[in-house]
This record gives sequence, structure tokens and C-alpha cells, in this order.
Amino acid sequence: MKRVALLGATGSIGTQALEIIGADPELELVAAASGSQDIEGLAPLTQVGGDLTALLDRAEPDVVLNAIVGFAGLPATFWTLEHGVDLALANKESLVAGGELATAAWKKGGGRILPVDSEHSAAFQLLEGREHDTVHSLVLTASGGPFRGRSRLELSGVTAREALAHPTWNMGPKITVDSATLMNKGLELIEAHFLFDLPYERIEVVVHPTSVVHALVRLRDAAVLAHLGYPDMRVPISYALTFPERATTSVEPLDLAAGLILEFSAPDEEAFPCLALARAAGEAGRTAPCVLNAANEVAVATFLDGRLPFPAIAEVVEGTLNATNTIAAGDLDELVAMDAEARRTAAALTRELVH
Ligand code: NAD
Ligand code: MG
Repeated sequence: MKRVALLGATGSIGTQALEIIGADPELELVAAASGSQDIEGLAPLTQVGGDLTALLDRAEPDVVLNAIVGFAGLPATFWTLEHGVDLALANKESLVAGGELATAAWKKGGGRILPVDSEHSAAFQLLEGREHDTVHSLVLTASGGPFRGRSRLELSGVTAREALAHPTWNMGPKITVDSATLMNKGLELIEAHFLFDLPYERIEVVVHPTSVVHALVRLRDAAVLAHLGYPDMRVPISYALTFPERATTSVEPLDLAAGLILEFSAPDEEAFPCLALARAAGEAGRTAPCVLNAANEVAVATFLDGRLPFPAIAEVVEGTLNATNTIAAGDLDELVAMDAEARRTAAALTRELVH
């Protein structure tokens, strides 16, 4: 039996994880947490909001599935890595905002990070057992979101409702907007850099509208390996929870005879500037990715409220990065302070740009 603590149990990932856990007699849900929704009785230990580290201490999990959205997921990630407990990681913001400290805690704690993000789960499987120096580069695929093909000008009037209509994935609102701006792929680039210890110039992003290929790995002899499957998060969630085993799932097998369309193209970085902003912040290092993430969370929340124009999300992120001096954060408290400072700056910039 594997003892699972599920954080973010009421969300898109959380509810799919409940289905996986419920169907697998080897997985035991020992603790669950949500941000604000009542979850009493869902697990022997439950908590709504607040500091989750005491809950995790009591739960003594074998694996923590961190499916909290946003910077709020960082303390649980640090607890898990510091305790050498396996971390099934959906909360990509942990590795974006706290990548350097988190990887140091990971190495020191000696546990595993089992990626839940579909591209990273695919990359993890493609890279498993492979010598690092035989890998030339990693390719992350992006659906392109609902606004693929539109120009910068055509994006000025799009609404939150249109942004929430994702063509291939059904996810929580924040990540769905991130997919529409391509910030999601930018966050994933930074996530991949820390997970797989690859420099940014060896991580490529391609647009692939059907989301059937989740990631590719280019090897040094020019061979390219791809990971395929229907876009269904139950597969990576299941793999992260059952690793190194592989359980059956109720996901349909890939129908190769149905006429799969495997098209790839370069992202339009002019219409979708968030991807380049994330790459630059990743390369700048220090707390630049933490600032990027905080500004993005503020801008996306204001866009979802219907107050901020879509293209202004990138403007808020860029303006906040330009206005903030980064530091080499020494601990989580310093990251929390940097996150708060960036949120104040982003909120001020947002006020100037609202309708
Ligand atoms: P969601 O909005 O559907 O759910 C978020 C969950 O986090 C909810 O259960 C909410 O109650 C909880 N939460 C929020 N603040 C909290 C707090 N302070 N303490 C405890 N719980 C809190 O989001 P989602 O789409 O499930 O995404 C969750 C994470 O997984 C995000 O980091 C996202 O980027 C990542 N992810 C999601 C998908 C997907 O298909 N949904 C795919 C890849 C990665
Ligand atoms: Mg993803």
C-alpha cells in the first residue's frame, strides 16, 4: 500500500486523482486538502487552506500529489522534498518560483519528483535510464490554445470566456488562460530546466494542435523519440502515483487508424510574448522566474474578472520584471517576500491597464 496525500483535491487534477486512487487498491488516500471548498470526510485527515505542513507531518505519506494551483503550492513542495518523500508534482509554479531552492532540497532530501504535467511525464519516461550526455535536447509540445493563428491585434478584444474554451485539454481556469497566452509553455520550459537539468538552449517548444504527442527527445545521433497518447491527465497522474509500477487506466487506447494528425509548427512569439518573457526570466535566473510567476498570477486573475485586456497580461509581466531587482533567494521566506513584492508591483501596473 502507498499512502497518498492529495493537495488540491477539489480541482481538475485533484478530482481525476481521486478517481485513480479510488480504482487502485494499492493506493490509500491518507490526507486531502483544498483551498476553500469543504472536503470533510474525503480522507482520514483533511484541511481547508492554511499551512499544510502540520497536516503532512501527521499524514506520514509515501507520496504527496501537489495539485494546488499557483505560488500557494510552494510550502508543501518544500516540505515533501526536504523530507525525502516522493513528490507527484502538478504544481509547476513550485519549480518556476522556487526552482533553485527546490532542486537543492530535492538533492539533499533524496526523494523523487514524479512529474504530473503531461509534457514532463512524457519527457521523464523518454529520458528514464538514459545517459544524460546522449541527450541532445528536449522538445515540449504546445496545443497553441484557443487563439492559435491570431495576430497580436486580433487578440486585443478576446474575452475570458473565449480564453477558457481550450481546444484539447479540460483544466482549471488559471492554467487554461496560461495556455491561451502560451505562458503555460513558458512555465513548463522553466519546470523542465529544473526537472531534467537541461540548459534553456536545449529545450525547444513546438506548436502541435492536436496534443497527441506530449514531448520528444532528440538524441545526439539524430534519433528522435516521441511520447504519444490522447490528451488525458489520468495517464500522467496514474504513472506518477504508481511509479515504478504502471497501472491500467480507463483511458481509451490510441486509435492509429482513425487518421491522427501530427502537425508541428514554430510558436508565434510576437502574438504570444509570454513564452519569450518566460525564457528570458529562466535564463536570467535568481528570482526572475518568481517575479514572472507572481505578476502572471495577478494579471491572469484580473483578466478572469473581465477587467484586464488579454494582451495586457504580457505587459504586466514584462513591466513587473523590468521594475523588480532580483536576488539570489536563500530560503522560502525570501521567496515569499519576493513574490509579495512582485504582486504589489503587478497590481499597480494592472490598475493602469484595466478597462
Ligand atoms: P484547479 O483550479 O482546478 O484546482 C486547484 C486546486 O488547488 C483546488 O482544489 C483548490 O482548492 C486548491 N487550492 C488553491 N489554493 C490552495 C491553498 N492555498 N491551499 C490548498 N489548496 C489550494 O487547478 P488545476 O487545473 O487542477 O491545476 C492544479 C495545478 O496543476 C496547477 O499548478 C496547474 O498548472 C497544474 N496542471 C494542471 C493540469 C490540468 O490538466 N488541470 C495539467 C498540468 C498541470
Ligand atoms: Mg502541461
